[in-house]
Amino acid sequence: MTTANCSRLEELTAKYRELHGTEPEILVRAPGRVNLIGEHVDYNDGFVFPAAIDRDVMIAAGRRTDRQVKLHAMNFNQSSTFTLDGVQPATDGRERWSNYLRAMAWVFHDEGLGTAGINAVLLGDVPLGAGLSSSAAMLVASGNTFAAAAGLEIDPVRMALLAQRGEREFVGVNVGIMDMYISALGQKDHALLIDTRSLTFEAVPLPETGVSIVIADTNKKRGLVDSEYNTRRAECEHAVELLREHIPGIKALRDVTPAQFEQYASVLPEVTRKRARHVITEDERTLESVAALKSGDIARFGELMNGSHESLRIDYEVSCKELDAMVEAARSIEGVYGARMTGAGFGGCTVSLVADTAVERFLDEVPALYKKATGLTSTIYVTTAAQGAQVLN
Ligand code: ADP
Ligand code: MG
Repeated sequence: MTTANCSRLEELTAKYRELHGTEPEILVRAPGRVNLIGEHVDYNDGFVFPAAIDRDVMIAAGRRTDRQVKLHAMNFNQSSTFTLDGVQPATDGRERWSNYLRAMAWVFHDEGLGTAGINAVLLGDVPLGAGLSSSAAMLVASGNTFAAAAGLEIDPVRMALLAQRGEREFVGVNVGIMDMYISALGQKDHALLIDTRSLTFEAVPLPETGVSIVIADTNKKRGLVDSEYNTRRAECEHAVELLREHIPGIKALRDVTPAQFEQYASVLPEVTRKRARHVITEDERTLESVAALKSGDIARFGELMNGSHESLRIDYEVSCKELDAMVEAARSIEGVYGARMTGAGFGGCTVSLVADTAVERFLDEVPALYKKATGLTSTIYVTTAAQGAQVLN
């Protein structure tokens, strides 16, 4: 654990003691994530390449003898209570954060897993709503807390699937599997090449020295994202329907090779064709970028990141002027291998791969360049690939 994590853990346990008068029996953490490449493909059965980051949600908890769940979120200084039987979403808007725990309690019950009443205190440092998936960190940390309280051993892939169901069916956001998967299974100093169809992964080591992952938050709150996200999903499904008449048996855009796409692209209406082209080329870029990384070719990896951004901007149309300005500012710094938007788009963060020797210049110059272009301030995080969810005691 990092020093920051240790002091947060102390703050968390102190609050638990203050509220409940005992030591917590359960301590868990689950991280946020950054996707290096493979964007908007996890709902097309494609390949993604995220890393867990060194920012997480921590939960301290203890069992109760009844079926109540009594929560306190330190980030909001807010409490919320619900009962495990017939879990409902929070009615008070100030307790909306508790829906992630309610979601996990609901999904455990729905899948016939045991649940136990708990007292729990939460503290996180994944920025909220910035596209680093604080929601997945919340869900996976909550799932691990409920599992520990009920004495259940849950395989992390199943935990990711439970969390995805929770976010889709209880919270009501139609997410793919990537965020929860990497939060549950991330590995220190590695990114995971995840096959979102088979739900298997390959852990690929990131360079031990010489390059840093730098995240830049545009501080542009993601507007539009839910409706546009649903539109993109529908457009991808439509592309598969039309292409299936020519390429029998395809289930998702993942199944269409670039050569097949070349051959049949003309059967798709223009917008659908652009969406499909992004997904099909992004899968190719992701696989090639992993090969480049394995052979030590960071420059090529960076070029493919740049290509991913252009494809998201031009073909998938999920970027925005703030993301484009941040990417442009990053790329103007010598020693930046590549930069792209990360996450769903329309705001949120960019990710850059930066030579260690250039990180300071990045920190000095990118915020000013970005401010000049947009009038907005930025928040920069230099991060390392962290371990996925853990039980800490
Ligand atoms: P993202 O996943 O990109 O960060 P979301 O809108 O999906 O954005 O999820 C953010 C929500 O998750 C917050 O509004 C809040 O309800 C919840 N959340 C995240 N971190 C915490 C935390 N530390 N404590 C309480 N709730 C949190
Ligand atoms: Mg989220």
